[in-house]
Amino acid sequence: MSKHVIVIGSGIIGSSIAYQLAKHGARVTVLDEGEPGGIATRASFAWINASWGNPDFYFRLRRRSMAEWRGLAEEVPELKVLWCGGLCWDITGDAREDFLRDHSQWGYGMRVVDRREILSLEPGLADPPAEAVHVAEEGVVEPLDAARALLSAARGLGAELFTPVRVKWLDVEAGRVRGVLLEDGHIHADEVVVAAGAGAPELLASADFILPLDLPPGLLVHTEPAPPVLQGLVMAPELHLRQTREGTLVAGSDFGGTDPGIDPKRTAESLFKNVQGFVKGGENLKLAGYTVGFRPTPRDGLPVIGKIPAVDGLYAAVMHSGITNAAAVGLFAAQEILGGDAREVLLERFRPERFCIN
Ligand SMILES: Cc1cc2nc3c(=O)[nH]c(=O)nc-3n(C[C@H](O)[C@H](O)[C@H](O)COP(=O)(O)OP(=O)(O)OC[C@H]3O[C@@H](n4cnc5c(N)ncnc54)[C@H](O)[C@@H]3O)c2cc1C
Repeated sequence: MSKHVIVIGSGIIGSSIAYQLAKHGARVTVLDEGEPGGIATRASFAWINASWGNPDFYFRLRRRSMAEWRGLAEEVPELKVLWCGGLCWDITGDAREDFLRDHSQWGYGMRVVDRREILSLEPGLADPPAEAVHVAEEGVVEPLDAARALLSAARGLGAELFTPVRVKWLDVEAGRVRGVLLEDGHIHADEVVVAAGAGAPELLASADFILPLDLPPGLLVHTEPAPPVLQGLVMAPELHLRQTREGTLVAGSDFGGTDPGIDPKRTAESLFKNVQGFVKGGENLKLAGYTVGFRPTPRDGLPVIGKIPAVDGLYAAVMHSGITNAAAVGLFAAQEILGGDAREVLLERFRPERFCIN
């Protein structure tokens, strides 16, 4: 008989894991206390990348996930991944030199481009820099649509989704998970996956596992749909932006969003002014609104992915850069959950046990 796996959380991480579990033959139940598609997920900039700022072992996971996104998009036609490339000039000096040296040694497909080429890639920039790094293999998804496409594909393979259903705590007995406790009942399962983003620490605490999680806020502005002005992702100092297929410009002072400060509306208006000055015809743009999301970031900045020590049948997947990582994490988690002793080598540096206090 196939294993029954409960996935708590229907954001990009839970939906990707649910899809892969269903594809690999599990009986899957997804539970979410909110609307399908997640919380951090819907507020994300959603840049799929293995860009600067991470150690080699994390680069390898991200790069593999970029490849897995390509495969997923072929399997699930509703997933619209846009491989539009990224243009980046937000680091300088030694940091830039390190980025160029390390990432080219690691095989990242990047090129240094001059102003002429920048303008041919992004003719809509009002004031292009003298030089930038272009990475053609980077991409983006509309995050909520992507999570929902994966949920729908999982359901097509027999997975069940129940919302709004809040899991109160994990049912653990004699070192093994038995299922989950709800406000008004209990569901048995062979395995439970905690893909609950900001809600993960509380759930894991009920299994005596303490996950130190930070939730830095990030504000992004969204314009009303406008004629095409950007071809790909642009990472400039103090402004990261992209344009959706529908024409909306999405921007933050960083892809992780701007600190909203004490007056998020004013922060959004000031950010929007920067966007207006950044592209040709910016004076015609209109601010549609802003979002503030909270990035589920384990205390050391790295993802937490794997079986929870001392509790058989309990798996956790909690992280920032979850959009980038979701494709690989979904696949690897399903393989590890259903594959007995299978351990994915690319996940070895991300295991939950690094937070265990002996
Ligand atoms: C402003 C911003 C910009 C970002 N930019 C990028 C980027 O460019 N690239 C990138 O890769 N990543 C980016 N991220 C990070 C990325 O969005 C997150 O890592 C990712 O969305 C996390 O997905 P998730 O499924 O783990 O969490 P979520 O989307 O938060 O989903 C968790 C779900 O669990 C449910 N839940 C929680 N507790 C319970 C419970 N007790 N019972 C039932 N359900 C529960 C919640 O309702 C929620 O739906 C960004 C994030 C933000 C906020």
